[in-house]
Amino acid sequence: MTDNAAASMPSRTDIAIVGTGYSGLCIAIHLKRAGLHDFVLLEQAPTVGGTWRDNHYPGAACDIASNLYSFSFEPNPNWTRVYPQQPELKAYVEHCVEKYGLTAHLHCNARVVEARFDEAARSWDLALDGARQLTARVLVSATGGLSRPSVPSIEGLSAFAGPVFHSARWQDDTALAGRRVAVIGTGASAIQLVPEIAREVGQLTLFQRTPPWIIPKPDRALSAAERRRLRRHPSWQRMLRGIDYAMREYRAAFFTRWPGVLKVAQARVLRHMHGQVADPALRAQLTPRYVLGCKRILLSNDFYQAIQRPHVRLVTEPIARIAPDGIETADGVLHPADALVFATGFQTDGRVPYPVFGFGGAALADAWAPGPQAYLGTTVAGYPNLFLMTGPNTGLGHNSMIYMIESQARYVMDAIQTMRRAGLRAVNVDPEAQRSFNTELQARMRRTVWATGGCRSWYMAPDGSNPTLWPDFTFRFRRRTRRFDLEHYRSWTAS
Ligand code: NAP
Repeated sequence: MTDNAAASMPSRTDIAIVGTGYSGLCIAIHLKRAGLHDFVLLEQAPTVGGTWRDNHYPGAACDIASNLYSFSFEPNPNWTRVYPQQPELKAYVEHCVEKYGLTAHLHCNARVVEARFDEAARSWDLALDGARQLTARVLVSATGGLSRPSVPSIEGLSAFAGPVFHSARWQDDTALAGRRVAVIGTGASAIQLVPEIAREVGQLTLFQRTPPWIIPKPDRALSAAERRRLRRHPSWQRMLRGIDYAMREYRAAFFTRWPGVLKVAQARVLRHMHGQVADPALRAQLTPRYVLGCKRILLSNDFYQAIQRPHVRLVTEPIARIAPDGIETADGVLHPADALVFATGFQTDGRVPYPVFGFGGAALADAWAPGPQAYLGTTVAGYPNLFLMTGPNTGLGHNSMIYMIESQARYVMDAIQTMRRAGLRAVNVDPEAQRSFNTELQARMRRTVWATGGCRSWYMAPDGSNPTLWPDFTFRFRRRTRRFDLEHYRSWTAS
């Protein structure tokens, strides 16, 4: 789905939303439902969809059940599987754009290259590519935490003779059938794509740096009868969603308070791996050496089988360099390859992907030099009327991000409505409120499995803080964001 409004980009709007993934669309839908139509949706790509547009590698799917991976106000009784696959998620997002009349607000191929707060006008001046300018009173940055692929700089990479691409930039027109393919990484993306491409490639070499914990994925197709029941009885679907939410939510206690329980669960997970992998040497290579949950727990029913196929090899020796015809490991062995796939994750520094300048021209990048920090993951002192969706410390290791996104969307909507009611031109969070919120968060982090589990993960900053995850139950985040707490903000009236 592309825009139909490219020709009519206004020079001024009340609210600019940057990004059209789940979080940008959630805000846009809330605005429409509240009868507020003076907003634009800016999307740098030619089509909407965020993560679920970009990640279309073979096997791309969500490891949160479909019923929970949809907006609470827009249930979908037509999911075809318990766990949704990328095409269905993309179709769901496009359905939301259509149903809520967002196309008229949508501007695709509109990349924000700078946002600068105008102190006199108390509004945001946005520079877009193509020398376009847009002024907005409120800026909602909904650019996602996992949108910029990370490709490690490995010696010799530029001289590799064959195709090279990242899992989130899959080249559909590059045929891999029959070829020797090297995949680097064994994270959530790799374990989904490896079993798929293993079906067709001539030879697959998988380079693993850290073995992940993998549990079975209770996935299956949903029958036509089940879908009919969901269509006829929305309350049944709501109940299933509630049960699924609760079943996931209790795990937050293990991640954040009692990581010791996770060590007990490890034995069960290892039994699952042992039941699938007979070779003791391969088992040893696949056995994680950190506490379950320290890195994201992965779900798969076919990864272990895939890597035991005769034409698939798991390599755990560190990569030394890339040769034109393969990958050389530290032991001097050259692993021949015709194509290279980087399943190496994303740039996860939490930054906003365009320069943002607030009060006094202060760069957000400088304010965040020690690490990203916000109030309730949403507002930043010195950057009035800027609202971050999926901002610092809103990520999850145990439940659906859609729940966090909806919590934030309600908070932002209440902020917008409060400003309208009180005739406020701008609001800026009190630095002290932000500081004490983050002190509390980081104190909570200390005993979490992410800090104590003995792994190196993208959740953590180099200084040992965790600017990524919410260290508590998600219903507590919802409670804290249920109303816009103007008392923690400095405000300016419109006059
Ligand atoms: P990831 O989890 O960050 O995994 C990257 C993999 O690449 C890791 O195995 C990492 O090894 C390896 N790697 C990175 N740099 C390397 C290097 N220089 N040499 C060798 N190996 C290297 O990335 P991802 O799999 O794309 O997943 C990212 C996040 O996206 C996930 O954590 C999850 O939040 C999300 N995701 C979700 C789903 C879903 O189903 N909902 C699916 C896919 C992704 P180390 O472990 O040693 O760092």
